[in-house]
Amino acid sequence: MPDVSKIIVASHNEGKVREIRDLLRPFGIETVSAAELGLPDVEETETTFEGNAELKARAACAASGLPALSDDSGLAVDSLDGAPGIYSARWSEDETGKRDWLRGMTRVHEAMNEDADGVKTARFICALTLALPDGPAHTYLGKVEGKIVWPPRGDKGFGYDPIFQPTGHDITFGEMEPDAKHAMSHRADAFAQLIAAQFK
Ligand code: IMP
Repeated sequence: MPDVSKIIVASHNEGKVREIRDLLRPFGIETVSAAELGLPDVEETETTFEGNAELKARAACAASGLPALSDDSGLAVDSLDGAPGIYSARWSEDETGKRDWLRGMTRVHEAMNEDADGVKTARFICALTLALPDGPAHTYLGKVEGKIVWPPRGDKGFGYDPIFQPTGHDITFGEMEPDAKHAMSHRADAFAQLIAAQFK
């Protein structure tokens, strides 16, 4: 097991940092976020979730000398050929670059309205990378299946949570208590793989 008593959470997204902290808490691991350390946001130039997660974790690890954990995630809608995908955050940005979750959800809804087949299936995908100082980077890919609903429901999560209803449930991630979301989310899936491989 690598020495990971303190980890940089390589994200500037408060919702993600909160969820990753919740997931790490049971392991007694101290966390500090990239924003708290004043590390710059990294430009996501890769074309896959895994590539971008690795880019962010390696940058935070190199800048801090500490193990870094990053998350690159997004919503993949089947009728949109997997969009917004790695551009999920960007679909929510206004002209000034400010994030507005309702804007992203509305964009997805409007794009889906153009699909005559009415297919609503989608999944959240999460690539988690643990980068170790002077060591390798390990990446794990998690998923959760569901469908897109409209109008948005619930204000408990972040991002696209209010329009995502996981398979087998009749409430959205936005309506779900955080503990229930953590038990089944794409992030929890990737996290479980990381724990099984690294913290045995
Ligand atoms: P990035 O990984 O920072 O590029 O951004 C991922 C984007 O995907 C977020 O800004 C959200 O819009 C969306 N996203 C990722 N995970 C979740 C989730 O658990 N719930 C809702 N939206 C999510």
